[in-house]
Amino acid sequence: MSATIVTFPEGAVTGEATVVQVAGDVVVLDATPFHPVDHTWPDQPGDDGLLHAGGENARVVEAVMAATDASGSLFVGEDIPVKRGTEGWTWLVGHRLDRPAPAWLAPAAVVHAEVDAVRRGGLSRGHTACHLASLALDLALADLWRKDPGPDALGNPDFEGRANQTSRIHEDGAVDEYRLGKSLRKAGFDTEGFAATLADRQQRINAQLAAWVAAGSASRVVTDGPTIIDRRRWECDLPEGTASIPCGGTHVHALSEFAAITVELDLPDPQLLVMTTTATPR
Ligand SMILES: [Zn+2]
Repeated sequence: MSATIVTFPEGAVTGEATVVQVAGDVVVLDATPFHPVDHTWPDQPGDDGLLHAGGENARVVEAVMAATDASGSLFVGEDIPVKRGTEGWTWLVGHRLDRPAPAWLAPAAVVHAEVDAVRRGGLSRGHTACHLASLALDLALADLWRKDPGPDALGNPDFEGRANQTSRIHEDGAVDEYRLGKSLRKAGFDTEGFAATLADRQQRINAQLAAWVAAGSASRVVTDGPTIIDRRRWECDLPEGTASIPCGGTHVHALSEFAAITVELDLPDPQLLVMTTTATPR
């Protein structure tokens, strides 16, 4: 078996494929348009949709990462005991069904894979909006650094890279959590100054996001190869320059697909910043 070929980076939502392995409710195809949730950084949920052939239908509840070891044993999602890319392992996309795989979904069967395109569209907008909001956040907080924390994808002080703890993407939005603890203060970030100017920072981020949406810049996923294990990154041609960020998710083709992107900043406790991003489709 070889690594699953993936077509979601180009934006595909349908495709023909051959079943290569079945284990309980998980079906592995040789190629797929389904984007799987990443088991180590689960920011964007896996796609859902259908597998069908000859009038038969099977519902995919979520695409997940899967991998086989040297002996051919299949591990799925969080049960994968090694890091992504570990040698001797074959990396796959698993299609988790809502029931054990029916007999017609057997190895060598040719099936049609069909992603729920409406949900995918919402997740792609949510993911692009999430990255743009992070870049706007870095820019709006740039003057709060007393030491250089290193550059982000636009060359601004990388608050995102230093403080981001979790990122959860949903249709047309995202929620990001940032740790404002002792180590960030030691790295030179003015946490008190930030807390005192929260409303002003939020306003700056939203003004920047409005300018980027108005520019309607091109956005894309760039890959190093065709399989699920090849590195992928998101690129966006912003007026300030092309931003390039390592990313395994799906994205819009242009910022003109948005009517608006806005954020809300919240400090539920002094050590935790929550940024809630909302995208409005055009
Ligand atoms: Zn991403």
